[in-house]
Amino acid sequence: MPIYEYRCDQCDTEFETLVRRGEQVVCPHCGSEQLQKLISAHAVGSGMADTACGAAPCDSAPACGSGGCCAGLG
Ligand SMILES: [Zn+2]
Repeated sequence: MPIYEYRCDQCDTEFETLVRRGEQVVCPHCGSEQLQKLISAHAVGSGMADTACGAAPCDSAPACGSGGCCAGLG
């Protein structure tokens, strides 16, 4: 299951949570469903960007393992 980071629009609480299919994510602090989905800290910290994926085989780029940014490269 993927872990996603969110920031609550209502109280600015930032949190990460496991997201199951079809499950509504709510703020653990105030229960709001008004959330901003944040970019994964792993992707940002490693400097792995879409451009990096284009220069490397998908197999060697962990961030591309899910097929996300390589989907449109043919
Ligand atoms: Zn909140």
